[in-house]
Amino acid sequence: MAGIVLEVGADADLGLVHNALRGCGVWGRTLGGALGSHSGARVVVLEGHSKEVNLGVLLDIPGVLNVYRGSSPHPKVDELRNRNIWVGSALIGGDETPLLMAGPCSVESEEQIHQCAAMVKRCGGRVLRGGAFKPRTSPYAFSGAGKEALGWLRDAALAHDLGVVTEVMSEREVDSVARAADLIQVGSRNMQNFALLGAVGAQKKPVLLKRGMAASVEEWLLAGEHLLAAGCSSVIFCERGIRSFDDTTRNLLDLSAVALLRHVHGLRVVVDPSHGTGRRDLIAPMSKAALAAGADGLLLEVHVNPAEAVSDGPQALRESELENLSQDLGLLLPT
Ligand code: PEP
Ligand code: MN
Repeated sequence: MAGIVLEVGADADLGLVHNALRGCGVWGRTLGGALGSHSGARVVVLEGHSKEVNLGVLLDIPGVLNVYRGSSPHPKVDELRNRNIWVGSALIGGDETPLLMAGPCSVESEEQIHQCAAMVKRCGGRVLRGGAFKPRTSPYAFSGAGKEALGWLRDAALAHDLGVVTEVMSEREVDSVARAADLIQVGSRNMQNFALLGAVGAQKKPVLLKRGMAASVEEWLLAGEHLLAAGCSSVIFCERGIRSFDDTTRNLLDLSAVALLRHVHGLRVVVDPSHGTGRRDLIAPMSKAALAAGADGLLLEVHVNPAEAVSDGPQALRESELENLSQDLGLLLPT
């Protein structure tokens, strides 16, 4: 509930007002200084993550004099509320079954991506993932097969009637990635690369916006606003884990943020438990937890032979594991 401002009487007990607000599922911040007083009254701004409530309910709180709907910092993101989004021929949201997007971390070869596409199709996936341009922590690690891999990815997806999601890393490659992809992925490391967001948004295609590994929810929403302000048709938000003190899992998969984006902001959210946990054995339980939290889909890394994967093998599911998970989630196509 973004952009709501309350005027509270000068003699009202602010503590009681805040308690009453929390009781309604909304959180307020009392403004200080010159901004904090208006015609003798105090000003309380509601936090954007507050529950959607009828403004009349807020007016009934003792001490609240007026309630105004101000401007939201992310009006275009707010307009996405409950909007369903097409990714190729697959629809995400509404009463649709959760959208399964899966594929290898990296597109390694023409043969590998065809094998992965066949496996994803057999297991009920609708969209093929795979990185042609890979962000790698070390400059000496494999950084993707580049433009050629985009062609392999597109052909493999076409051959198996799948959509394509793939990451763009630089403004230089936006055109070629946009031609190959039904859904353009902006990776965690680029969530706040505003020049890239502008160039990607100008393609007017749907974008999968991964959460930066140290980004607050509000920063993530504002990154979405950058895309939409630049012309992007719609944004799917992807939770992929944030940094924590604990290195027993690769990241901390923030499923509270998933519930918040879906149930409070009404946005389309997918979860990437592969990068979220970094561990193959945790993908199935966290996928189920993600859907229970409200996710509209999953982004999973899979590989025909994880032991030989050039990147992220330890978190890649084998076919039998993907099949079991899809079966549990009711995603397997009738044979
Ligand atoms: C990926 O999905 O290939 C990837 C690099 O993920 P992230 O940006 O979440 O690290
Ligand atoms: Mn990966």
